[in-house]
Amino acid sequence: LMLLTRKLIEIRSILLSIGEEAGLTLPSIVVIGSQSSGKSSVLEAIVGREFLPKGDNMVTRRPIELTLIHTPASPADPNPKTFAEFPSLGPGHITDFSLVQQTLVDLNLSVPAAECVSDSPIHLRIHSPNVPDLSLVDLPGYVQISSMDQPEELKDKINKLCDKYIRSPNIILAVCAADVDLANSPALRASKKVDPLGMRTIGVVTKMDLVQPEVGAAILANGRYPLALGYVGVVCKASSKGREGRLIKKDADGGSLIAPIKAQEDAYFGSNAETFSQENMLVGTGTLKRRLMQVLEESMAASLHTISNAVAIELEEASYQFKVQYNDRSISAESYVAETMDHLKARIMELGKGFSKAEVRRMLKSAIDEQVLDLLAQQYWADLKTPELNKLGNDSKLSPEELDLYWQRKLDAISSSLTKSGVGRASTQLVVDAIRAQLSQLAGEEPLTYHPEAAERVNATADALLRERFSLTSDQVENSVKPFKYEVEVEPKEWDQGRERSVELVQRELNMCEGALTKIKDAVGGRKLRGAMEYVGELEEKERRRRERRREAKAGGEEWIEEDDASDPTRPAYNPALLAKAREAMFLSSRSGILRLRLQALKSRRCKLGPDQKAFCPEAFLNVVADKLSHTAVQFINIELLVEFFYQFPREIDTRLGYDLDRSEVQAFARENPAVRTHLTLQDRKEKLEMVAEKLDSLVKLQREKAQQSPLR
Ligand code: GDP
Repeated sequence: LMLLTRKLIEIRSILLSIGEEAGLTLPSIVVIGSQSSGKSSVLEAIVGREFLPKGDNMVTRRPIELTLIHTPASPADPNPKTFAEFPSLGPGHITDFSLVQQTLVDLNLSVPAAECVSDSPIHLRIHSPNVPDLSLVDLPGYVQISSMDQPEELKDKINKLCDKYIRSPNIILAVCAADVDLANSPALRASKKVDPLGMRTIGVVTKMDLVQPEVGAAILANGRYPLALGYVGVVCKASSKGREGRLIKKDADGGSLIAPIKAQEDAYFGSNAETFSQENMLVGTGTLKRRLMQVLEESMAASLHTISNAVAIELEEASYQFKVQYNDRSISAESYVAETMDHLKARIMELGKGFSKAEVRRMLKSAIDEQVLDLLAQQYWADLKTPELNKLGNDSKLSPEELDLYWQRKLDAISSSLTKSGVGRASTQLVVDAIRAQLSQLAGEEPLTYHPEAAERVNATADALLRERFSLTSDQVENSVKPFKYEVEVEPKEWDQGRERSVELVQRELNMCEGALTKIKDAVGGRKLRGAMEYVGELEEKERRRRERRREAKAGGEEWIEEDDASDPTRPAYNPALLAKAREAMFLSSRSGILRLRLQALKSRRCKLGPDQKAFCPEAFLNVVADKLSHTAVQFINIELLVEFFYQFPREIDTRLGYDLDRSEVQAFARENPAVRTHLTLQDRKEKLEMVAEKLDSLVKLQREKAQQSPLR
């Protein structure tokens, strides 16, 4: 019938992974006892290995859920290895038990000292031909005397933790030292509260060697504090060796590793055989092991029906929910990842369409247009002589060749500053920035919003690709616009179009100026603004005159004396904010004036004549230059950057995001999406319950058959 325990231990682990609901638990053996009662020694004697953390300084801060799995020798594996694994740390067979010990210390220390103890258990599985199938929980030892480093709070926390674990249906292994009065045993006291008759409590009396055999035997006789399951006496340490004398032979493989202690125990009970041979008196770790197996199995068998029913009910509920909420639609983390990748790639394709040649050209053109407007504003519109250019343009007898060199040079300067401004770099940067802006928008959309890390990777991947293409692209563009640095040839047709577009742009600029002016007027009030503007005008005039006088004085070698600037007391005082508005308004109105003049010029007969009139109509000429620059730049940006990028990017996403994930990463990724997480959790629960239900069914059937075959029935 050992099969039952084994199967149910398996089922217990599955149920634990579903969640800790009442009713869905199978019994385990919970080991409790005060500090130094010999708890660890007993557990190690059962396992046959030294693996628990040692030391006085509260090393056990978390429960250890210990699952022992008996691996008998078989023809396929005549010499099965003893090994441990920590499921939470991933697969890995540890054969060096000092490493197990160290890992347990680390996992315990992951609980901050301030928190004292934690409820979250450490799972440890040990496979060995020398262990029985058992599931045990090691808990922190009860603190008996609180002290500086073991405060009252710690005591309470440990009590609470133990109380949680000693609930039914668990079996309580109450460890008491023979040399301490049972009346003082916190383990027995705790067990009595939840199991007064001792129906599921086994007493383990350690350190039998420290008391007279008769005294020990009296305890085991189960008289004073009777437990239905009785007491087992053990000696888990060779007393003759003193405190530090644990004799553990490091044997590479299997074998009884605590052999000397075992021998010591046998010798002790052997030499006192008469005292301990009374009926029902249980002594020795071997006996303890068998007893535990037997009790656990009985308890498991007794739980079988209850647990089957509980699982059936839970399964029904889970199936119902799955039907109602998801219409029985199964999903998998893998398919979610694949869908997400496909979606991402499709979105990138879509983004790529937004970067058509025409679109990119429009983008570049409007950026260069802005640059041109800035240059025009600096060089022409802010130049007080510009109205003169208008006048000259109106004089139909004046040919372009006769125009003052001042205007010719100005246009040459502005056009070369445009073509030599690093168009390659600037336009590549512009497109790169636009791509990045689109991608960051993508990161803000579902499903990437659920996957911040993946979104970061997408961006990093894009950045790496863009960085790779950047210099080459910008160099190519720069090369391609080189001819324009020397001369820009303009065809009559191009001129016409450029002139028309420049009319639009100057008109837009004019509208903006006038709009801004109206806004100021509305905010300040027309009259008030006019007054302030007059005042500013006078101030400026005054300042101009003052400067002039100073210059004259200096030129004439006279000493310059600052006149007293007596302000007119009859004038209202203007506040600085109003004056600033007035200055802005004056600027806007003079700029509007110039722009209006320029519009006239651009629409004039002269400008319509053709490209050779460019010195009269710089706006039209520069528009053509901007057009040519953007047209040329886009060819190379398209080939070197866009085509390459939108080809490579989806592929990189696949390799860096899709194929790179291992199983657990796929799960973790899918669960980042809350909707997928709840779906998967329910589905998982349902599947596990189905599996458990099936296993339980076959066990119940097996039990029934056995019962029928039994000759007693
Ligand atoms: P825990 O704190 O309850 O886990 O107790 P330990 O297993 O660490 O044991 C506490 C001390 O008692 C250690 O020094 C052990 O060597 C010693 N000890 C444990 N079992 C026995 C035993 O059967 N006989 C003797 N003499 N000492 C023991």
